[in-house]
Formats: sequence, C-alpha cells, structure tokens
Amino acid sequence: MIKRSFIGLTAPKLKCDMVEPDPKDPEAIPIPPRMILLLNEPLDSIRESLIKQGDRVQKGERIFLYKDSQSYVTSPVSGAITAIAPITGNYGVDATYLVLETNTKQDVEQSFAELAATPNIENADRYLRGIPGDPPLKQLADPENRFNRIVITGVDDDLMCTTRQYVLARFADKIDRAVALLKQITGINDISIAMTETMAKLPVFNGMNLVRVASDYISSLPPMIMAKHLGIPFVPGKDLDVCFIPVEAAMSLVRAYEEKQSVYDKVITIIDKTGKRTRVTATIGTPIHRIFTRIGVETAEQDRIIIGGPLRGIAAYTLYHPVMPDMDTLIVQASGESPMASDYPCINCGKCVKICPSKVPVNLLVRYLEAGLYQEAADSCDLLSCIDCGLCSYVCTAKIPIFQYIRLGKHELMKMESEIQTEAQNV
Ligand code: SF4
Ligand code: SF4
Repeated sequence: MIKRSFIGLTAPKLKCDMVEPDPKDPEAIPIPPRMILLLNEPLDSIRESLIKQGDRVQKGERIFLYKDSQSYVTSPVSGAITAIAPITGNYGVDATYLVLETNTKQDVEQSFAELAATPNIENADRYLRGIPGDPPLKQLADPENRFNRIVITGVDDDLMCTTRQYVLARFADKIDRAVALLKQITGINDISIAMTETMAKLPVFNGMNLVRVASDYISSLPPMIMAKHLGIPFVPGKDLDVCFIPVEAAMSLVRAYEEKQSVYDKVITIIDKTGKRTRVTATIGTPIHRIFTRIGVETAEQDRIIIGGPLRGIAAYTLYHPVMPDMDTLIVQASGESPMASDYPCINCGKCVKICPSKVPVNLLVRYLEAGLYQEAADSCDLLSCIDCGLCSYVCTAKIPIFQYIRLGKHELMKMESEIQTEAQNV
C-alpha cells in the first residue's frame, strides 16, 4: 500500500499490498477473434521467413521467424496469420508482431503430448517457453549456467501487485508437485518457496523449505532475498547461482505436463482509476482492451496504462498491447493523477543517494546516463550495482525519470557487450 503520493518531500515508508484473505476466483476473459503474438526477433525484409500471411497454425504450434531462429512463440489458438509486421519495443528493441485470426474449431498440435510422460529440461525448453509466469527455461537448459538452487517466488516484486500471492494461496495444496517436477527436470534439489511472513504460517506449507519475506518494499526483490535470507551477497556482473521462478510459472509447468499440452491462461490483477482490483485470467495474446471492456474498466485519452507496479512497471503505449507471459498487473491511472517526469536538471538534493539500498551515487550516475555515457556510468558510478528497485525515481525532487535512464543504460551496456562478443567470435 502506498502511504503517500508518488512525489513528496519525506522518505517513503512503503508496505507491499497483501492478497485478500479470501480471494474470489478470477473472471475468465473469452478468447477474442484476433490475437496478437510478439516474437522477440526483428523482421528482416531480405531474408526468407518461415511464415507468411494466410498461413494456418494449430494451437500449441511453435512459430519461428527464420530457419535459424533461436526464439519462438507458441500459438495459443488455432487460426490464420493475417499480419506480420515489425514493432519497436521498450528501449528501441526491434521485434515482430503477428496477428492471428482465431478459428472457431480448435485443433491442438500433438508434439508435446508425446513427450509429456518424460519431463526433462530439454522438452520443457523446447515446447513450454512463454507459458504463464514465464519460466526461465532457456537459462535452466543452458549448460553454461551453474544454478545450484531454485527459489519459487510467491511474493510480488512491486507495490500494489498481488498476483503471485494469489496464485500461491490458490494452488498451495499443489506446490509440492511443482517442487517435485522442478527437481526432476533440473536435477536441482535445493528448492525453497519465498512467501510473505503471514502466509508462511499456513499449515499446508509445513515441512517445506520456506523463505519468509517481510512485507516492506524492497524485501521481495531477488537480490534482497539472496542477501537477507540465503546469505549470498549481490555481486554486480556475477552470474547468479540461484534461479528465481515465479510461482505461476512453476504451476504452469505442472499443469502442462499433467494435461499433456501447453497452457496459456494468465492470471492478471487489474487496478482501475478508482483503485478497485479485479482479477482475471486471459489467454496470452489477448489485446488488453478486451480485458478492460469485459470487466468495465474505462480508459480515456492520456490515461496511463502501466504493466507491472508503480515503481518498476513500464507503460503500455497501445490498448492493443497483448497479454504477455509475465504480465502480472495492469494499472490504469487517470491522466491528471499520473506523476509526470520532467526535464528539469538535478538540484543535488541528495534524496536518491540517501534512499538507494545499493549505495549508488545516483545524483552523479544520472548525469552520465542523461549524456548517454553508459560505460562511464558503470565504471565511475556503479550502474551495475543497482538492484532495479525504482526508489530513486520515486523520491526525486526534480522528477527526473532516473529509473528509466538506468534501465536504458543497462540495456545499452548489454547490447555493447554482445556486439563485442559477436565481433570476437567472427575474428
Ligand atoms: S533503482 Fe535507484 S535506488 Fe534502486 S538500487 Fe537502482 S539506483 Fe539505487
Ligand atoms: S537526481 Fe533527483 S533526487 Fe537525486 S539529487 Fe538530483 S534532484 Fe535530488
């Protein structure tokens, strides 16, 4: 719960919202006639694509853009591709979107069903990437990664968000199956469940390896869980030994193997302009305006739609934005009530430095980032020590969008690093 307005003069005392004691079942949003799927790969007009307008796809069919594509999207419905077009996402990332016209009769592609009796990380990564909760299957399947511990997270990572807590409460009696399945497919036996202190008292979790997380923001962020509960300090740039898996992702894996088919219904908590919450399940690929219309949430020109929470979320630029595997929360803010970013210069008030849990010199960092000096920001101002909490933006007197600059800076650094690696490989 936010105890004060977004921009204020005192240090914030922020408590995360708790899920309702007796939550209602989510409202199921019907599958719409048109779905939108995002492929995390740019469209290249010179190359011959594997898909074209008019192609028919089955439910559960994996869609690759090119012969050598490493990423894929799984079709949540049977239908026909009616459009393929480029799209620029956050931080200028080039991607591709597909529009699917949904068939009335749904045929399910059977390749995964044949493998579901023998769960392993290879078939999970091959068929189940992008299921609700977005399990990090690619990373788990990568032999370069050396995870030795898994934390299933039933805590939400921003204010106002309660979806993970809801999923954990709803499927508490099945969490042991998720633990067993994850052990089986990853070979990792050290599996804990992160949950709020209050929920950890429930008898259904007796005997499980629990991480009891306090309800103050920022205790639920992975670097804080590692430092406070696992005794592993956050070291910038070091590969993590611990793999964090959202509880919905773990439960989606269980369902997919038990039902012998991929699953697509994502739980989302919607918070409207009055603060009213509605929980829904919507098929991945459903345009978000379909959800708003169905549950009676009105939106107007200039309103802000936030995917995620108020501190770490990102803005949706269109009501046609599709439901994504990791979309836990949608917040609609009325235009007059949205805290606006400014282009005023830093006045050196020092609030960002005081509040930063990583002791980053944010007032200096922001100067490098504003100038696009990303490597210098990392070398001189500890950009990579930032744990992405968003608190600096929250307290900034000058309303500088510091957190957005930080994310852009990290993204650009990663891009530079991968370009250097590619060049080195080519040499
Ligand atoms: S988001 Fe800001 S306050 Fe949070 S760790 Fe990063 S620099 Fe520090
Ligand atoms: S960046 Fe914002 S919070 Fe930080 S010192 Fe400057 S004005 Fe103050």
